[in-house]
Amino acid sequence: MIHFVGAGPGAADLITVRGKRLIEKADVIIYAGSLVNPELLEYAKEGSRIYNSARMTLEEVTEVMSAAEGEGLETVRLHTGDPSIYGAVREQMDILEEKGIAYDSCPGVSSFCGAASALNLEYTLPGVSQSVIITRAEGRTSVPERESIKDFAAHGSTMVLFLSASLLEKLAGQLLEGGYAPDTPAAIVYKATWPEEKAYLCTIETLCETAKEHGITKTALIIVGNVLSHSYYERSRLYHPEFTTEYRKGNL
Ligand code: SAH
Repeated sequence: MIHFVGAGPGAADLITVRGKRLIEKADVIIYAGSLVNPELLEYAKEGSRIYNSARMTLEEVTEVMSAAEGEGLETVRLHTGDPSIYGAVREQMDILEEKGIAYDSCPGVSSFCGAASALNLEYTLPGVSQSVIITRAEGRTSVPERESIKDFAAHGSTMVLFLSASLLEKLAGQLLEGGYAPDTPAAIVYKATWPEEKAYLCTIETLCETAKEHGITKTALIIVGNVLSHSYYERSRLYHPEFTTEYRKGNL
């Protein structure tokens, strides 16, 4: 059996209880060494075989899984954050299916949640934005044309950009072209929840210079939207005295 496990955004105690148990039981662990905190490997049992996938191809990864399965071993494939976000898990799962190897998934705390915690941020403030667009700037991996930054920007909602820290000049231009005002609040969160975490508040106009000033080129998320300033929002209906819910009678 292969378990795809979300390692969480960085801090070793932000893996789920289930994910930790799976690591403790695993005979083979293949971890994404570029972003998974190596402290998590301390949960592994004596004698487990540990591979860093940063130095491996898809073929090599699935070969290790296949060999482990042949020996009747349990394998954990440890991905950063939550495996479902830019995790390149589907291609592994499809090969496992071809080989008839069973697998399952254990979620993790995605870095976009870690970044919100770094800023004490609520992405969905009533009256400001009720949607979070998770996307990326186009790099070596192409992005479908209908998902252009400019088109998404036209919604004016909260946006979280993965894998984009080295493309900020182009990105800021596209955000502005799409309709965000130049002074729209923005944030750069570097290594959210790691000891070296850094969070910088700026605006779309100053995104690029802020990243340059602090030498940020990778392992960062860019957050854009008026939820960052929280200067205006409506209070929630759920906790309003007038509002009746299944659990509480309102006074109106
Ligand atoms: N599956 C992961 C994302 C993998 S893609 C998740 O759910 O978080 C890798 C990108 O995620 C990085 O380039 C960066 O944009 C972002 N990232 C991952 N960990 C991060 C962290 N701790 N802080 C800020 N950004 C992070």
